[in-house]
Amino acid sequence: MSNNLLETPIEYLKGVGPNRGQLLRKELGIHKYGDLVNFFPNRYIDRTRYYKINELQNTGSEVQIIGKIINIKTVEFAKNKKRLVATFVDDTGQIDLNWFQGHKWIRESLKLNEVCVIFGKCSLYGSQFSMAHPEIELFSEHEKSLRSAMQPVYPSTETLTNRGISNRTINKMMEQLFLETQALFTETFPSYLIEELKLISKRAALFNIHFPKSTDALAKAQFRLKFEELFFIQLQLITKNLIRKHKIKGHPFTKVGEFFNEFYQNHLPFSLTNAQKRVIKEIRSDMGSNAQMNRLLQGDVGSGKTIVAFMSMLLAIDNGFQACLMAPTEILANQHFIGLSELAKTLNINIKILTGSTKIATRRIIHEELENGSLHIIIGTHALLEDKVKFQNLGLAVIDEQHRFGVEQRSKLWKKNEIPPHVLVMTATPIPRTLAMSLYGDLDISVIDELPPGRKPIQTVHRFDSNRLKVWKFLRDEIALGRQIYIVYPLIQESEKMDFKDLMDGYESISRDFPLPQYSISILHGKMKPADKDSEMKRFAEGKTNIMVATTVIEVGVNVPNASVMIIESAERFGLSQLHQLRGRVGRGAEQSYCILMTSYKLSDDSKTRMDTMVQTNDGFEIAEVDLKLRGPGDLMGTQQSGVLNLQIADIVRDRDILGLARNYALKILKEDGPLQKPEHAVLKAVFMELTKKKNIWNYIS
Ligand code: ADP
Ligand code: MG
Repeated sequence: MSNNLLETPIEYLKGVGPNRGQLLRKELGIHKYGDLVNFFPNRYIDRTRYYKINELQNTGSEVQIIGKIINIKTVEFAKNKKRLVATFVDDTGQIDLNWFQGHKWIRESLKLNEVCVIFGKCSLYGSQFSMAHPEIELFSEHEKSLRSAMQPVYPSTETLTNRGISNRTINKMMEQLFLETQALFTETFPSYLIEELKLISKRAALFNIHFPKSTDALAKAQFRLKFEELFFIQLQLITKNLIRKHKIKGHPFTKVGEFFNEFYQNHLPFSLTNAQKRVIKEIRSDMGSNAQMNRLLQGDVGSGKTIVAFMSMLLAIDNGFQACLMAPTEILANQHFIGLSELAKTLNINIKILTGSTKIATRRIIHEELENGSLHIIIGTHALLEDKVKFQNLGLAVIDEQHRFGVEQRSKLWKKNEIPPHVLVMTATPIPRTLAMSLYGDLDISVIDELPPGRKPIQTVHRFDSNRLKVWKFLRDEIALGRQIYIVYPLIQESEKMDFKDLMDGYESISRDFPLPQYSISILHGKMKPADKDSEMKRFAEGKTNIMVATTVIEVGVNVPNASVMIIESAERFGLSQLHQLRGRVGRGAEQSYCILMTSYKLSDDSKTRMDTMVQTNDGFEIAEVDLKLRGPGDLMGTQQSGVLNLQIADIVRDRDILGLARNYALKILKEDGPLQKPEHAVLKAVFMELTKKKNIWNYIS
């Protein structure tokens, strides 16, 4: 069986041996035959197409050209630095070939005035194209070898290249592998699935991914292998979710009681949007069952997640349980405390806040009340995770801004009880739905996709630093109308000192341009003491200051409806989702709000796209799409969880359609045959067991 053959250590492959074997293990993680066959090219190059020099374009792609070298010289381009330059011509023009190393050897090997084929990447300097370190072959030699339109290019490392394992070497190994195994790779899908989806066989797919016969065959191979990879991940994620629902018991909140009904009927501050109603229904149904709820609540900034969380908490209290809300920062915890206390003011509910700066005496009371059950709702930061915090019966944990708390921290909350509390994770980072389902396969998802009525869309503009005078004039006008303003500076860890200086310089110059007594300014940054932060925030929230100069500490949750302008300094240094979050701090009141993105004049293409996107749309999901395209999914969750899915061939951003398809099929199959017991699913089960054994899903999700 070829499956056993695939377990053979890689050094046994003819042409590999112990030295190369070790390199392959270390550099590429290829330990055995099976790893090599699943080591896929990351791109293909067309060696059947020849370019004329006058057709060259500055795209950075690799091209091959037929022509001759007519001249070779050495040029000194910096002190003691020389390059070898050959002039290469065809009947349409000329380009320079450059070598920065190995001059002697190359000079000897170059043949003047003989027809040859060069291959490499072209770059444009001024109006002249050049190619550095091209591959050169005499045309007579070139003609003898077999050329295919799609030569695979495998991922490599510098060490491999330096140790002589070139792309060609990998190619040869692959040929040898297919020879030795006769490509007898077993099928991993049931035949009905292959027919239904018109997939090619596993064997044909592996062959064509490494040795594509045509673009069509390659496309089919890619589709089959991407689908397969995504399908098995989905199979694992969904199974895991089903197991949780069966096995992890939760407190059934069967009652919709006094608190909920009283609030709903008599104290709702506004009528709920349809999206809010739908989401509350989803949560109620989850918490009413016997299983633990694990739900992600997505909603753009300002979509009204707080009231949903609050009403869910009321359900917990109605059923005799306590609830907690955990926020990533003290400022945010405070805001939630104020907001929820306001909502609860007409109800007889005990709500308290616990953060790092809570006084010991207060802390003691809170600990006591949590243990004896007289405290209904506790709001806090990480302080809630301390061992001293013990609940009498925690029934619901709400976590705001998911990406700042890891999975481990989440589960720390449940260790506090025998039966875990229901968990509601709220995030304002919009993630396209299929993607979210793949990233958080163990969470169910609710989306608030509708803003409360009557909001005026925020107007966003992009201005260069040179326009600052005009921008300042605009600010004075807004302040004269009674509005308040945020001015945000980037504070990014790596260059914290520099950034801090930027912030302080900015603060000083703003203080000069908006002097007392006419204007007053608040400042807020991470280095301030919590008490100072709070008092600055409070002054601004109460309208005692006109301008809040801050770092991104104000990014999450801060709610000052009278603030109508958000200025983002050095906006090019922020990611799209962060810009969108910051912008969400304004537009919370009845007035027209504005976001002004200040940047320097020189912008990279990516930065320009980010600014344009912000100017064009207020839609968080649309922004998330662009963000994904610019950054890839690895960055989505922030560095903490980067490299979320470690995929071989599929790309969850580019291959989202295939992902959706794979998910649907996985769902369908598990619905019909959850334990994969049907004979036609034996192949699936075998692969599934194998994967679960060696590559638990948690290896995909870091
Ligand atoms: P986020 O989802 O960003 O946490 P919030 O819950 O803070 O949003 O809500 C933003 C603002 O919208 C708050 O001032 C809140 O009172 C208000 N709000 C929420 N839901 C509605 C609604 N259905 N109708 C009117 N205003 C609402
Ligand atoms: Mg919020």
